[in-house]
Amino acid sequence: MSSESISPKSPIPSILPSLLGLTKDDIVEIFKQHDEPAYRAAQVLEWIYKHRANSIEEMTNLSESLREKLNQQFRFKTLSSVTVQGSEDTTRKYLFKLHDGRYVETVLIPASKGLYGDKADRLTACVSSQVGCAYGCKFCASGLAGLTRNLTADEIVGQLMMVEELSGKKINNIVFMGMGEPLANIKNLEKALDIITGHWGMNIGARHITISTSGLAPMIKKLADRPQQIRLAISLHGATDDVRDQIMPVNSKWNIDELFQALHYYKERSNKRLTLEYILIKGVNDSLEQAKILAKRAKSVKALVNVIPYNTVEGLDWIRPDDEHCYKFRNTVRDTGVVTTMRIEKGHDIDAACGQLRLKQETSEGIIKAPIKV
Ligand code: SF4
Repeated sequence: MSSESISPKSPIPSILPSLLGLTKDDIVEIFKQHDEPAYRAAQVLEWIYKHRANSIEEMTNLSESLREKLNQQFRFKTLSSVTVQGSEDTTRKYLFKLHDGRYVETVLIPASKGLYGDKADRLTACVSSQVGCAYGCKFCASGLAGLTRNLTADEIVGQLMMVEELSGKKINNIVFMGMGEPLANIKNLEKALDIITGHWGMNIGARHITISTSGLAPMIKKLADRPQQIRLAISLHGATDDVRDQIMPVNSKWNIDELFQALHYYKERSNKRLTLEYILIKGVNDSLEQAKILAKRAKSVKALVNVIPYNTVEGLDWIRPDDEHCYKFRNTVRDTGVVTTMRIEKGHDIDAACGQLRLKQETSEGIIKAPIKV
């Protein structure tokens, strides 16, 4: 059977762990067990993140026997590139194959205007955290595919390393808005964050990382306790429970009051940037009454609001309101003094815009479709 024909529920083949999923402390500890000095860990990390070696063999300042030991215990690369799609606006979408035959997508977005008000020279990677997703937000079609599995830390870091290798460019901004709910995979996410932000690792500042969540209140509190300025974006999409319930099934588990309690905690812990994402869907959540309540909620936690006119997703019935109404909604929030943006989508022509991303891989069992939320 070829790996292309793997079913989403097939067991994950066992495989050696990857060096890309290890922190500096992990590597020091491993070398200690092999009676190797701690500076060897620094050498290995330099080969991986500074020299961008492609294999353990290339780490020529390690002895041959040490390289052999490492090769017996670890893999190096964790993803293989399947396709790269370029957009007219220079957004690029990468399809990667995982070791078990599953796929993830990662998007590279050159920000001409800046996402979340960031500077224009930002090069943003939109990263996936799971294969599929269990949360089934109604605009995203992920619920159709369900969750297959969490991505490991090395598969999260590996997406960034591969995008940098393939594009020849240095990523300086990361948004966890790809496939999956990052906070449902918090253990691997936190490990990946240690590697991404470590000065010995990818060395990308925490302030340049945004994690988007559907609203897992207890995990938001956990993230708030992290001593780093990581930014948070909440997929709100409804300002009252009755409206949010129609779009975000997670609301039945943690309703808006519980979510905002967690957001207050998050803001109290530090003044990290908080954004409320609001996809505008015609006749569902786009009333001006919702806009006014949204503004009040945003003020209560000093959040920015990002209004996103809905993008068509194949197989879903939602409709985008006309532009005039979108601006009216945005202005209603903005006129209360809340910083409000209406995101200009990039990558629309390659299905890489908000809520449009999905894996489309022909397999012998049909088409795997797993959307990416942005
Ligand atoms: S928006 Fe995010 S959390 Fe919701 S179904 Fe899509 S991937 Fe999952």
